[in-house]
Amino acid sequence: MNDKKNKFTENFVKKINGILIDPVIFTYKFICNCAGECCYYGVYTDLEEYQTILSIQDQIKEVMDETQSKDVSEWFEPEEKDEDFESGIAVGTEIINGKCAFLDKNGLCSLQKLAIMEGEYRWKYKPLYCILFPLTTYEGVLTIDTDHIDRLPYCNIDPNTQLTMFEACEEELRHFFGEEGFAELENYREEYLNEIKIGEKEDVTK
Ligand code: SF4
Ligand code: SF4
Repeated sequence: MNDKKNKFTENFVKKINGILIDPVIFTYKFICNCAGECCYYGVYTDLEEYQTILSIQDQIKEVMDETQSKDVSEWFEPEEKDEDFESGIAVGTEIINGKCAFLDKNGLCSLQKLAIMEGEYRWKYKPLYCILFPLTTYEGVLTIDTDHIDRLPYCNIDPNTQLTMFEACEEELRHFFGEEGFAELENYREEYLNEIKIGEKEDVTK
C-alpha cells in the first residue's frame, strides 16, 4: 500500500501550501453543466465540517423539504480514518431518497442554501470535497477524480468543450489555495504549458 502511495506521489514535483499538484488539471477538458448528479452519491466530510453541520442542525432543518430527513441520526455514516482529511477522520453523508441527505427536491444543497439565506459566503458550510469535485486530493496530491466522473452518466459529457479543469474550476481553486497560492498555481500552469509547447513535456490528455 505504501509503495503504491509513493509511486503515485513521485510523479509530481510542484507543491503549493503543502499540496502536490497534478498538472493534468491544466489540460484536462471539463465543463460542469448538469443538474448536480454528483450530489446523488453523497460526500465525505472532514470531522470538523461534520461537527459544524451538527452545530447548526436546527437552522439546516428549517431549509429542508419533505424529501429530506430531519432526523439528524440519519444524516451521516459512521466516522472512519482517512489521512486525506485534515483531521484524519472522514464522515460520509447518507443517501436518502436517492440523493445526499442535504440535497433538496430542487437540486439545491441545503448547506449552501442556508449560508445564502443567512447572507454569508455561499460555501461557508459546504464540505470542501463538494466544493472541489471533480478536483480532489488523493495521497496529498491535488488531482482529478476521473474514476468518479466516469461513473456519472451526465458529468462532463460535452465533447466540444475547450475549457480546461483549471479554467472551469478557477473559483474553487482560488478558494482552496487562497489568492497567493492561486497566483503560484497560475505561474506553474504557464511554465507547464510552455514546456508542452516546446516539446519538453507531453500533454497526457491528448
Ligand atoms: S461536477 Fe459533474 S456531476 Fe457534478 S454538477 Fe458538474 S457536471 Fe454534474
Ligand atoms: S453536502 Fe451538499 S453539495 Fe455536498 S453532496 Fe450533499 S447536497 Fe451535494
